[in-house]
Amino acid sequence: MSAVPLGMPAFPAAARDATRNPTLRRNLRHATHTIRSRRAAAVAELDDWAELRAAGAAIKDHTLRHLDRYLEQAEAAVQAAGGHVHWAADAAEANRIVTELVHATGETEVVKVKSMATQEIGLNEALAEAGITAYETDLAELIVQLGDDRPSHILVPAIHRNRGEIRDIFAATMGEWGVPAPDGMTDEPRELAEAARLHLREKFLRAKVAVSGANFLVAETGTLVVVESEGNGRMCLTLPETLISVVGIEKVVPTWRDLEVFLQLLPRSSTAERMNPYTSTWTGTTDGDGPREFHLVLLDNGRTGVLADEVGRQTLRCIRCSACLNVCPVYERAGGHAYGSVYPGPIGAILTPQLRGTTSEIDASLPYASSLCGACYEVCPVAIDIPEVLVHLREKVTAQPGHVIERGVLAAAGWLMRDPKRYTALQRAAARTRALHPRRLPLPGWGKAWSATRDLPEVPAESFRSWWQRRETSGEKK
Ligand code: SF4
Repeated sequence: MSAVPLGMPAFPAAARDATRNPTLRRNLRHATHTIRSRRAAAVAELDDWAELRAAGAAIKDHTLRHLDRYLEQAEAAVQAAGGHVHWAADAAEANRIVTELVHATGETEVVKVKSMATQEIGLNEALAEAGITAYETDLAELIVQLGDDRPSHILVPAIHRNRGEIRDIFAATMGEWGVPAPDGMTDEPRELAEAARLHLREKFLRAKVAVSGANFLVAETGTLVVVESEGNGRMCLTLPETLISVVGIEKVVPTWRDLEVFLQLLPRSSTAERMNPYTSTWTGTTDGDGPREFHLVLLDNGRTGVLADEVGRQTLRCIRCSACLNVCPVYERAGGHAYGSVYPGPIGAILTPQLRGTTSEIDASLPYASSLCGACYEVCPVAIDIPEVLVHLREKVTAQPGHVIERGVLAAAGWLMRDPKRYTALQRAAARTRALHPRRLPLPGWGKAWSATRDLPEVPAESFRSWWQRRETSGEKK
């Protein structure tokens, strides 16, 4: 995965700054609550949602178990259909492959379909270093690019911006990138969309090379699938002469029958639609129809490492719907930038530390960016138990040097709980001294902030075990 943004503080510090920004909090609250309630209504329309969700999880688990076989099947099918397949072990290799492919066309600019994989590897920056300009064509990605900003949401990368801010960005910068915004443009959505349409159309008609990701790759036919709402993807996938698709290896699904399940799960979970407005599929190349040259770059970049972890591998089921972001109380308050990665919210808190490791301060802090309330698991259309993975990753973080206190506390708890006599003695002592217990632990330093929001549980006068024993021996139960 590409590096942490320069100077990115750990999650708690970044989140503290974000929560002090009232405009950001207002924008996020409005957007997440709107999408959240629409999604709930769209999901409630289906009687078999639970079965669909279970099917989605089962298909993904089966595919991940046989990933090598399905990837080779997909590779053979793409090649048989006239496409070229490249394997990229990491971000640097993927960026090098794409850069060389664009150079081979003689072009110095590409149009892009919204793609998390290309953001993950920092493709735009790598292309810029090689003298190639990448133009984002998704409306929200365009706002982020023109505003020299970073995305803060998987589906709506400019969710932190309101209409007035978008108008100001368009008016100030569109002209530097191509067709300028119309004079007198207001912040009405219709006018903003029209400005983007005029700006982008010129790019679509001029571009000879497009770069995309894909939501799915159907192994049996080597077909790639992009689902979207605006139609910009369809333009990029059909008009240019060369198409390069950078796709994570976990995107493969075995058959079209399997795809059917995900095409029901994804739109309802992401945009709360029964069906997304544009579903584009392509298989290799076809004479006289669409790009004449097609390259598929299959990206690992840490995914096989995730696959090797028995608890963590469920993360690779993710279909990037962003439903978990929209229900997360932490994301709603902190926003996406605080996560220091292109993957924010609950999925980012488990995916980023697995792809990048937990050695940097920000990555080690991500598994703690959660209240473990479980709302993310409830809405996840492929049933990823995000809290389970978060706790698993916390274990990994505390196993690293510098976590002496956590390890000491857990070792002491383990010592006490391993021996019933010790445990019972502690319970009795705690019950006898309960009147003297403070409401909160009087911890010094950083522990003070932790204990300030956590009341100690009240110790009952009698433990369950002792009550049970008394009941058994005294015959009270009769
Ligand atoms: S973890 Fe689940 S809810 Fe979150 S983006 Fe992935 S598929 Fe959607």
